[in-house]
Amino acid sequence: MIIAIDGPSGAGKSTLGKMLAKKFDLLYLDTGAMYRAVGLAVLNAGISFEDTEKVAEIARNSKIKLVGEPENLQIFLNDEDITTEIRTNEVGQAASIVSTISEVRRILVGHQRTLGETSKNGAVLDGRDIGSVVFPNADVKFFLTAKPEARARRRYEEDLEKGRAVSYEQTFAEIKERDERDVSRKDSPLMIAEDAVVIDTSELDLSEVFAQMLQILQEKSSNAASNLT
Ligand code: C5P
Repeated sequence: MIIAIDGPSGAGKSTLGKMLAKKFDLLYLDTGAMYRAVGLAVLNAGISFEDTEKVAEIARNSKIKLVGEPENLQIFLNDEDITTEIRTNEVGQAASIVSTISEVRRILVGHQRTLGETSKNGAVLDGRDIGSVVFPNADVKFFLTAKPEARARRRYEEDLEKGRAVSYEQTFAEIKERDERDVSRKDSPLMIAEDAVVIDTSELDLSEVFAQMLQILQEKSSNAASNLT
């Protein structure tokens, strides 16, 4: 089973994706972490983001690994643990820039498909283009969204909790900048796949969103079962 979760940053995709993966014993793939890993590799190499060929080469040569259970997922870049380092706003912006380069997307989408297709029971993937590009035939597609203020507030509170020095205004501005880049890029822009179920999480808490997702999954699986009879 493949479950696609797309949507803008701060809509709750990763928390809910991990919850679903845990409940159904599926692989959880944080595809944003892969773009962040490439963004970090480019920052570390000190090359210009405009040098798209070099950036693509870095993506091609980067060994990105996602290791462990969904709730303790660790991200490795060339065997170095970068789990914490990739969560800064700087790396988020770098990820959003490298994600506009088609060759980078082609390389990472290839990894994502292989990981999803070879997972034992199936996978939950969270990202921006999962239902539209990576797995257009996913069994269930969710598109989680929320008002920019609600998303910025969540991200800001998360950052505070983790001891990162940021202001709400800065977080809001960065989220808007990334959103704009994600929806306007030419290759695989953030969009709602035709058959995706849209959930606006602005006024809902996690357990309410989770309950809605479970209900939709149940409806889809009983429809699939009745189509077989
Ligand atoms: O999900 P997260 O905020 O960690 O993703 C970082 C950036 O990576 C996003 O802003 C987006 O530009 C890019 N991304 C993407 N396609 C995906 C996942 C993330 O373009 N499937």
